[in-house]
Amino acid sequence: MASREEARAVDDGTRHIEVLALDLEGTLISNAVSQIPRRGLHEFLVECVERFPRVVMFTTVPEARFRAIARALAGEGAVPEWFPDLEYVHWHGAIKDLRFITDAPLERTILVDDCGDVIQPAQTEQWISVPLFEHPYEEPGYVLEEVLTRLPRPKRRGEK
Ligand SMILES: [Mg+2]
Repeated sequence: MASREEARAVDDGTRHIEVLALDLEGTLISNAVSQIPRRGLHEFLVECVERFPRVVMFTTVPEARFRAIARALAGEGAVPEWFPDLEYVHWHGAIKDLRFITDAPLERTILVDDCGDVIQPAQTEQWISVPLFEHPYEEPGYVLEEVLTRLPRPKRRGEK
């Protein structure tokens, strides 16, 4: 059972996160039409799978479309080769309730998403907000690198 302290600890990195859910459009890429990768996307994804035991795609883009986009991005080298095979979350409705993620312990799951409207109100502490990646798709600095600084870094086995 998760305590209140445990729920708050997402910000200071002391909490053990098992599942990292990633939004696609406006977070990792522009949108499903133009498919422009955000700067630093490849490195970001590599770091995500190094830090978290399970990384999943949680998007409004249908699965087949996501995989096609991901394959195109992988072909360009914009994402790692495994990205098209990433676990895809099946969900419905307008809210990305983290309980849609099968077998994911709710308190140990976080979602990186640009859109606050899709966040389940009771799960705002598990939401890592990202500024919308929008036209003209030229951002100063590395937004995704900055996002990494806000993601908990799980302790390694044996580490205190
Ligand atoms: Mg989005």
